[in-house]
Amino acid sequence: MVFLRAQEFYESASPRFKNKDFDIWDYLRWYSVERDVATGTFDYPMDWAAYNIPIKTVVQSLDVFTGEYTPYDIFMDEILHQIFNQYEVGEHDTYLVGVKDLDDKNLAHELSHALWYTEPKFKKEATTLLKEVPADLLTEGKSTLSRMGYHKAVLTDEFIAYTATGDMKRLVKSSDGYKQYEKPFKSLLAKYLTSLKVAA
Ligand SMILES: [Zn+2]
Repeated sequence: MVFLRAQEFYESASPRFKNKDFDIWDYLRWYSVERDVATGTFDYPMDWAAYNIPIKTVVQSLDVFTGEYTPYDIFMDEILHQIFNQYEVGEHDTYLVGVKDLDDKNLAHELSHALWYTEPKFKKEATTLLKEVPADLLTEGKSTLSRMGYHKAVLTDEFIAYTATGDMKRLVKSSDGYKQYEKPFKSLLAKYLTSLKVAA
């Protein structure tokens, strides 16, 4: 819940929330009952186990917000203060990921996003590897991601994060021919993760 405002500001599937100043209650109603795949209950914290957002977007999401801070907004604001004061990092080269703890299996997936955004060499190498993936696998994977609720702007980035962490099977159901394409992505991510500075 702490990440909701920033995450939906960053890449909400709905234009009502992406890049918008929004009320948390409007979001709750939309997610629970108004969106296409709504179940009638607010399943957001169960549906999304981990988060990843550029720091400058987190800052923007709170900057544009004109309502009253919820306890979650206050907590996120504190996280930002801690990051800027304690680590003395700039807004433009820093990325925030949210996972349960450092043993969380989602960490590598979220760090893949962080690398995609902050490390041009990783992005370039991953893009080159993507050219080896057959078009039908890529199309199927991206349409699965779309149905899962990801915004179209992040489908490539998500496809790489799933593939590099051995999760391509969740995206591609039609064949098991995907396995040979996963390997180079896994090695690429492993190579970059060893050189990454992670502050927890
Ligand atoms: Zn992801």
